[in-house]
Parts: sequence; structure tokens; C-alpha cells
Amino acid sequence: MEKREQLYEGKAKKVYATDDPAFVIVSYKDDATAFDGAKKGTIAGKGAINNRMTNMLMRKLEARGIPTHYVEELSERETLVKKVNIVPLEVIVRNVSAGHFASRYGVAEGIVFDSPVVEFSYKNDELHDPLLNDDHAIALGLATRGEIDQIRSCALRINELLKDILAEVGVTLVDFKLEFGKTAAGELVVADEISPDTCRFWDSRTGEKLDKDRFRRDLGNVEEAYEEMSRRLLGS
Ligand code: UDP
Repeated sequence: MEKREQLYEGKAKKVYATDDPAFVIVSYKDDATAFDGAKKGTIAGKGAINNRMTNMLMRKLEARGIPTHYVEELSERETLVKKVNIVPLEVIVRNVSAGHFASRYGVAEGIVFDSPVVEFSYKNDELHDPLLNDDHAIALGLATRGEIDQIRSCALRINELLKDILAEVGVTLVDFKLEFGKTAAGELVVADEISPDTCRFWDSRTGEKLDKDRFRRDLGNVEEAYEEMSRRLLGS
């Protein structure tokens, strides 16, 4: 497949057309942003780690029957994926209180939930991604009831799979964000990425943060945290 013109540049990735309209190439950058783009920086080596980690995890999801946009890793930073229309929802699954859950509801971080919490926000930069429920999403025409049901059950299955994969390497999956897309054929698939940019990973023994919170909160050892997750999940 031949790489063609750049279609889009986001905060952490670029997307290129290919000679086949059904496929695009994503290219992961080292750029990092937080707080709605107010904080900007770079995390050296992040693009390559997020690319390889996302692909490894998406291959594991595929192996368990969960459809994703993943097709083929092309290089350290580039991956061929199915072209999809992104459903404009950020789908967040939480196992432990942290981040906006803790601040919004005025509770401490680290409360372990009896069952996972699924949460949606409307992917809309101008509105700053407001939280919404399934009725809101349906009323706004962002997804159908059937799609929401499918997204929710898929997100919960993914949570169970990811929790197991991470537990094996001594990491607690605190929360994570998924995006779903629809292919031209109408198939709903997992898209975007699954990486320390989009998940909270805490060392199971020490509680040490091994994710983008090190960047957001200026905790130091940012690169080291990504490298540590890479070592544990990818072996290098
Ligand atoms: N998240 C993300 N992109 C966003 C918002 C959240 O990937 O635009 C991820 C975030 O990394 C965390 C989870 O979703 O793993 C829950 O995030 P939260 O709602 O607590 O917001 P945050 O504090 O990350 O802004």
C-alpha cells in the first residue's frame, strides 16, 4: 500500500491517505498535550512506544473476537488501519477513582469500584468534550441505541481483557478511554489507540503512576514511565 497525502494532524498522531480509500496510515508523534491543549510538550520515544503497544493490544483484542481498525504495523511509528468514521464519543471505563471522576465528584483517587463504570463524553473540542449519558448521545444523533449498547458491552469486554493482560505484568488498569469507528462496510470497530496516553496504569505493588499523568502533573520521569510500560508489555 502506498502512502499518499496527509489528511489530518491531531495532537498525537498524523493520518495519511493511501492508494486504497478503505485504508489510512497513522503516524504517532512524540508530542503530548494535556488540559484541553493548554499544556504542550514532547515525550521522547512516546510515538514509537504507543504505536507498538496499541498494535500489540489490538492484535490481542482481535484474537478474542473484538474487531478493531488495526491492519498492519508498517514501521516503528506507522501503522496501516482501516479507514473509519469516528463515532464522536469518548468511551471511558473506570475501575478505580482517578482524574476527572475524583475531581468532579469530590472523592479521593484510588477508590476501587465493585463494578466498572462506563462513561461517555461528546468528542467536541469547542464544547470541551462534555460528559453525556446514552439518552443525550441518542438525542444528539451521535449513535443509535443499538450502537451504544454494542459499544458498552464491547468496552466492558475490553476492560476484562486489558485488566488480565496488565495484571500479568504487575499493573493495575485504573481507567482508559476508547474510541469506536464505523468502516465503509458499516462494521463498528475499536479505533484510535490504547497506550499510556489514553489509560491510567498504576504499579500494582507500589502504586507508582506509569502513564501520562506523569506529564500532566509534572511528576518527573515521564519518558521512564513509558519505557517501563514498554518493557513490561512489549519486552523492550
Ligand atoms: N482520556 C483520554 N483522552 C481524553 C480524556 C481522557 O485518553 O481526552 C483518558 C485518560 O488518560 C484516563 C481516562 O481517559 O485514562 C479517564 O480520564 P478522565 O476523565 O479522568 O480525565 P483526565 O483527568 O485524563 O483529563
